[in-house]
Amino acid sequence: MSDIPVGRFAPSPSGRMHLGNVLTAMLAWLSVKSRGGRFVLRIEDLDTARCRKEYATQLMDDLNWLGLTWDEGPCAAMPHAPYFQSECTALYEQALAQLSRSQTIYPCFCSRADLHAASAPHRTDGTAIYAGTCRSLTPQQCETYKLQGRQAALRVAVPGRDISFHDTLCGSVQQNLARECGDFIIRRSDGIFAYQLAVVVDDARMGITEVVRGRDLLDSTPRQIFLQQALGFPLPEYIHTPLLVNAQGARLSKRDGALDLGVLRHKFTPCQLIGRLAALVGLLPAPESIDLRTLAANFSWQQIHSADISVPFSWFE
Ligand code: GLU
Repeated sequence: MSDIPVGRFAPSPSGRMHLGNVLTAMLAWLSVKSRGGRFVLRIEDLDTARCRKEYATQLMDDLNWLGLTWDEGPCAAMPHAPYFQSECTALYEQALAQLSRSQTIYPCFCSRADLHAASAPHRTDGTAIYAGTCRSLTPQQCETYKLQGRQAALRVAVPGRDISFHDTLCGSVQQNLARECGDFIIRRSDGIFAYQLAVVVDDARMGITEVVRGRDLLDSTPRQIFLQQALGFPLPEYIHTPLLVNAQGARLSKRDGALDLGVLRHKFTPCQLIGRLAALVGLLPAPESIDLRTLAANFSWQQIHSADISVPFSWFE
């Protein structure tokens, strides 16, 4: 691994950036820039039904407006192109072929209804733990499904051991994939590669040394570590940042339209917005206008609150 920290922001262009996305991008940027590192922008546009080129263009315009510029990615240096996941299918195919040499990968014909049957064990986030239904299908059974016109997803069989890692903000995390997750999808039935595989391939080939992202993805990390180990990739440092929540305690989403950049850019300067976010996470005692370079000069993860943060909406009116 290189000595220079390499961080990344990896948004899915499915709408306008909101405050939560800006916070993640800002922390990822500050973390590497405070140590003379490199910042990569990767556009995670695999889900063609939700993602749009116009959103990606807008996103880059918003990041530039904020001053969160990237050293590598679209419109910058591109030593590890492509930076749009929709253009990386051949790389994911290669990883899938490599993975299938050491792991059990099998087609799964289960429908949504099969997966969400009330009898299926569920995870704490409400999603079903896959029971392994298709793991022992015979080639004849697979043929029959195909003749019925059913498209198969691909799943990887997970090990029964615990996967553990240390997160800079969340501390020690442990998950038993067999018990708490089940065999998971690496290619969807429509042929689109799953986020779990794509993110691991891209973080490795781009030489990412630290992954900073929202805590909603903490639960995905053991799956990604399992894939990294199976593919012989290095383990980056993980830092899952607190989520911004509304007064009801629900995570801010693209539906909280008043906090998207389309609105915020009309009300604030970049330095005012950055200063408000910095105060929210513990980098400043109170909101003030501040530029990113000044924040980077004094940045450390020890200052960052680790619990989710309730947004004082009056700060953003
Ligand atoms: N593309 C994901 C998202 O926008 C982030 C993935 C990651 O940072 O690993 O939620």
